[in-house]
Amino acid sequence: MEDLIDKLENQQKLSRNEWIRLIQGRNPQISNYLFQKARKIRKQHYGNDVYIRGLIEFTNYCRNDCYYCGLRRSNQNVKHYRLSKETILSCCETGYQLGFRTFVLQGGEDRYFTDDIMADIVSSIRIRYPDCAITLSIGECSHERYRRLFEAGANRFLLRHETYNSSHYAKLHPPELSAAHRQKCLWDLKEIGYQVGTGFMVGSPYQTPENLADDMIFLKKLNPQMVGIGPFIPHHDTPFKDENAGTLELTLFMLGLIRLMMPKVLLPATTALGTIAPDGREQGILAGANVVMPNLSPGDVRNNYLIYDNKINTGVESAEGRKALEKRMDAIGYRIVTARGDSLN
Ligand code: SAH
Repeated sequence: MEDLIDKLENQQKLSRNEWIRLIQGRNPQISNYLFQKARKIRKQHYGNDVYIRGLIEFTNYCRNDCYYCGLRRSNQNVKHYRLSKETILSCCETGYQLGFRTFVLQGGEDRYFTDDIMADIVSSIRIRYPDCAITLSIGECSHERYRRLFEAGANRFLLRHETYNSSHYAKLHPPELSAAHRQKCLWDLKEIGYQVGTGFMVGSPYQTPENLADDMIFLKKLNPQMVGIGPFIPHHDTPFKDENAGTLELTLFMLGLIRLMMPKVLLPATTALGTIAPDGREQGILAGANVVMPNLSPGDVRNNYLIYDNKINTGVESAEGRKALEKRMDAIGYRIVTARGDSLN
């Protein structure tokens, strides 16, 4: 197995069979070997810096019905909210004061936010914070809408492909959603000029090592600026309520593999990772990640953006929260930086 990791380090790719063999054959010793290399490579490009992104979860309405997500439209128990433009701008202001230079607007696919309304929000942030990156994570849209929002001032877009394989995709989503359309959106975003982030859930129901191999091959081909992965975690009001969660162990292993395959990519240690283990995000950083995305949403709505159960709720909207995060990273030898943190990839 070490030979496959050496090969991945040297060639930044593996064949489908090699990916499968490596993922299936992993063990704690191989993982340590991988993480050492992943840390070395991330240090070469990004030093000990950890970039921060301020996450603003601006709506929990969603027209989609993904089987894994707590915000799916069939879930009657969601306490719905939408943030006004003024509230979003005040989240940005708080974040800016705390050193955030990237704002991530994430939400369900909420028709209330028409092209006009969304473009107005983006351009208002753009005018007030010319030195900041604006990231959108609002799901699948038309090429036209993506272009309009790019022109309004958005720079980056996060849209996980979730799983590359279309039959696996069909087991996680209702028939009106398809892997092919999700992937088309990603190519559209790239073509328009966004810095793109994609990714997948680790340990989602029915996922096989073959599926993960295909995800790695797709990542290599798309060559995004950022890759977000996190463990699947069941939500009690979804069809997957009784499914097992993805493991910390496999998620960390996949993070290490992604760092070796794409040395300069931005790789977040996600909230889901921090949810399945108290030091999950720290372990993610030690497996090669270099980004954290703390929550800037107002405290009263944060409890309602529940895509999975037990989602950690450590806001950094206060100076104390921000300090606590700094301490956690400091304790493992890394430092939070306030740069925009554009991808070197
Ligand atoms: N509506 C936006 C944002 C989705 S939430 C979009 O479609 O892109 C962001 C990510 O959370 C999703 O892409 C998915 O990978 C992840 N997610 C959703 N439900 C989850 C669950 N139960 N466990 C872990 N991750 C989940």
